[in-house]
Amino acid sequence: MEPESAPPFGDMPADEFRTYGLAFVDWIVRYFDEINSIPVLSEVRPGDIRNQLPKAPPASGEGMEAILADLNRVIMPGMTHWNHPNFHAYFSITGSAPGVLAEMVSAAFNVNCMLWKTCPAATELEQTTLDWLRQMLGLPEDFWGIIYDTASISTMHAIAAAREQLTDLNIREQGLAGRPEVPRLRIYASEQAHSSVDKSVIALGLGLNALRKIPVDEKFQMRPEALTKAIAEDRKGGWRPFCAVATVGTTSTTSIDPVAEIADICAREDLWLHVDAAYGGSAAVVPEMRHVLDGCERADSLVVNPHKWLFVPVDLSVFYTRKPDVLKRAFSLVPEYLKTQEDGEVENYMDYGLQLGRRFRALKLWFVLRYFGVEGIARRIRRHIELAQAFAGWVDEDSDFERMAPTPFSTICFRAHPAGWADEDELNRLNEKLLAQVNATREVFMSHTKLGESYVLRLAIGNIRTEARHIEKAWKILKDKLSELCKPGGKHDTRN
Ligand SMILES: *Cc1c(COP(=O)(O)O)cnc(C)c1O
Repeated sequence: MEPESAPPFGDMPADEFRTYGLAFVDWIVRYFDEINSIPVLSEVRPGDIRNQLPKAPPASGEGMEAILADLNRVIMPGMTHWNHPNFHAYFSITGSAPGVLAEMVSAAFNVNCMLWKTCPAATELEQTTLDWLRQMLGLPEDFWGIIYDTASISTMHAIAAAREQLTDLNIREQGLAGRPEVPRLRIYASEQAHSSVDKSVIALGLGLNALRKIPVDEKFQMRPEALTKAIAEDRKGGWRPFCAVATVGTTSTTSIDPVAEIADICAREDLWLHVDAAYGGSAAVVPEMRHVLDGCERADSLVVNPHKWLFVPVDLSVFYTRKPDVLKRAFSLVPEYLKTQEDGEVENYMDYGLQLGRRFRALKLWFVLRYFGVEGIARRIRRHIELAQAFAGWVDEDSDFERMAPTPFSTICFRAHPAGWADEDELNRLNEKLLAQVNATREVFMSHTKLGESYVLRLAIGNIRTEARHIEKAWKILKDKLSELCKPGGKHDTRN
């Protein structure tokens, strides 16, 4: 059959949309069904995908049949399957089926929810779902929420609000450059904090030197007494401390900063306290994990990413603050053509951030929360934590492996350390090689981090499809690859 191509004017005809709509839903169902039997990692080399794509765009329409065929032929071989149950790198995430369906509807609506007027339902669903999520996390009633795309952007907005709170400096009007009367501003985060804090100070004109990294203890948690000391030193040295970022679930080890103690310091020193709970925050949905957010009720702002561990497709980051008025002061700028009659009685989300246009992201959060329910979500997160604790137990019991950090959530930091290996450099090379060989199977995908001078493997659990058998498989591959590396002659190989 000749491929259909687009009609001369207008959109795809309804019949064709129905045919391919059903075909693509079928395609997705099969993808989810078969994902267990495909490798999580692709085999392509850099350039392989581009080389198969035409250098110029198609002059005339090609028909969905051709597009579908190339999705299978060209795109699929170059996919890293983040929705795969053996994806354990970075943080393991899920675009769940209700979330996928919501994305489809959201694209069909194609609204821009910059103002209440430009889509009342999107604005009010955002208000409602964020209040639901606030309750699920046990956060106080005066936490006001907004959806941004990513945690990095949420944190940038937090620091912008903290800066705006320095009203005497009037940075919104005057800027920072060329003003000898403005002291150097200082912000604090632990040395384990996410690089988005660094990027924020770059973007906000504070400069990387404005960020002072506070040392951590042996559990990779910020040392509050070191924070107190740093602030005192800085005040003496002419800096103006204005913000601290605490992390609940750091990216490297998922350590939890002592937020309550940091909140005391921030209250005493009059600093804005932002909590980065991008990954770890979701665990608070589980009643017995609620404590991970202890102290966060006193934060000025907090970010949690439903696209990380709440089964919502990328991207959706939730930012809460108890000072939306300060955030609004930092960013609100309403040109004449965006003024509406309802401005006095509604929330216009464009007033609370850099971006004007906003996707209807709340729809997918709503679908996911309703489909699984609070208990269903808690049950799944609890399972991930149990699987991680089991894996941590296997590491602890095996004389060839060792754990490199506590496992408060569902991410395990560990390394191979066979008997008789003492040299750190050799251990680092062994583990780097082990990770490469494990990932070369393409059956599982893990990542690494550096703790002190040690090269450390990370196994994250957070995909909705991950079961005990997947974790067992990952462990078996690790054990097998390690014994291959360490068989006679193997140790020599790692030195090359
Ligand atoms: C993943 C992560 C981020 C960054 O998240 P994005 O949404 O990709 O910007 C920030 N902080 C922590 C602690 C994270 O784990």
